[in-house]
Amino acid sequence: MSNLFINATKQLENAAKLLNLNKSVLEILKNPKRILEVSIPVEMDSGEVKVFKGYRSQYNDALGPFKGGIRFHPKVNLSEVKALSAWMTWKCAVIGLPLGGGKGGIIVNPKELSNKEIEKLSRGYVCALKDFIGPEKDIPAPDVYTTPQIMAWMMDEFSKIKGYNVPGVVTGKPVEIGGAQGRNFSTAQGGIYVLEKAVKKLKMDSKKTTVAIQGFGNAGSFMAKILSALGYNVVAVSDSKGGVKLSRKFIKSKVHKVKSRKLRCLDIKNVIKFKKETGSVIGFPGTETITNEQLLELDVDILVPAALENVITEHNAGQIKAKLIIELANGPVTPQADVKLEKKKIVIAPDILANAGGVIVSYFEWVQNLQNYYWTEKENIEKLKTIIERSFDEVWAKKECLNISMRLAAYAVAVERVAKAEELRRGI
Ligand code: NAD
Repeated sequence: MSNLFINATKQLENAAKLLNLNKSVLEILKNPKRILEVSIPVEMDSGEVKVFKGYRSQYNDALGPFKGGIRFHPKVNLSEVKALSAWMTWKCAVIGLPLGGGKGGIIVNPKELSNKEIEKLSRGYVCALKDFIGPEKDIPAPDVYTTPQIMAWMMDEFSKIKGYNVPGVVTGKPVEIGGAQGRNFSTAQGGIYVLEKAVKKLKMDSKKTTVAIQGFGNAGSFMAKILSALGYNVVAVSDSKGGVKLSRKFIKSKVHKVKSRKLRCLDIKNVIKFKKETGSVIGFPGTETITNEQLLELDVDILVPAALENVITEHNAGQIKAKLIIELANGPVTPQADVKLEKKKIVIAPDILANAGGVIVSYFEWVQNLQNYYWTEKENIEKLKTIIERSFDEVWAKKECLNISMRLAAYAVAVERVAKAEELRRGI
């Protein structure tokens, strides 16, 4: 994963070339504005003090305050955090939000920590970054293995430091303390709106469409649930322990017969229940166990990577059979794989558009916190739909007009907006 920032820079350069971007502006856009590295001492339950390393990359704020999640994962590294912060910049720009891009992470396996230890770590991270975050500066949010509860601790710590309540310092909070209604499923819901638009363009029929989803956390499990409710046939899912696919052996049994379906598919509501009870999707009745790598190569119509980055590379791109890829994860396809997939005419709805639902509703949360006036879930989701569908149309029009991939089109729209802001502010 160490080359992730190289991938992000390559994607920017591709767009800059297409736009014939001013060299000085490109130089500015290639570098994060500020990188923070902090050490967070935590007294563990055993009484021993452990020091965890944390990062925050504040990439670009030409369009508004830095915005982006915080990841708790043992593989967090600076290259990854920088890449994720660059992608946040382009994401906010392609959907037209008045926000810049940032991202944070702590090198930790939260599964090995108690709740109390995670709370201390979360509060410690905020303490270490207190002068650099805030509603007007940088607004963190959840990402891999960070939760609404962690956001609640972070908001509480920042508010204690300030001496008054500052709900707008982080988004993704529980609804009871200023979180936005519908934020928990907004990333998946945004992905659904993008998927449905793409399905229409490609003239696919939802009832006959099979889907495989890698990752069964916040993004992936809600995606599976909503897709299933819409009539799509989710036939394989996975988590960090591996995956499951509908078993041929069981295909004629009643296990997977979901009402009014022509095709057999996984009963997602029960998969979610099963994972809650057992900790994994593996072993769900009527399925065969597969690896995460095998899941990507299944003969399905739509593939949804919703776990980590760099999972489709030049090594497995040739084996991908899906016609449409919806990037719910950030950076799941490498630039080298992109070239191969494009040759195979596989359409990729890029991460900066496909998973933007989360930051759109996070933006609503921030706006509501600032004005102390709260909207209903219906209002949040309707506004999300308007923004993401408009953005899809803008990207699709550019793709068609220039005969380029959706990724390059999305980058062209985004980079042009941030570049214009830099030019206007700096008089370049
Ligand atoms: P999460 O922590 O809720 O879930 C992560 C999932 O990935 C879990 O099911 C986990 O088991 C699985 N996983 C972990 N390591 C894996 C591996 N090596 N192989 C396969 N699966 C693995 O995280 P999330 O919020 O759902 O985020 C998933 C992806 O979506 C990330 O790339 C994240 O950046 C992106 N994303 C999330 C949001 C959001 O609002 N949650 C918004 C935009 C993008």
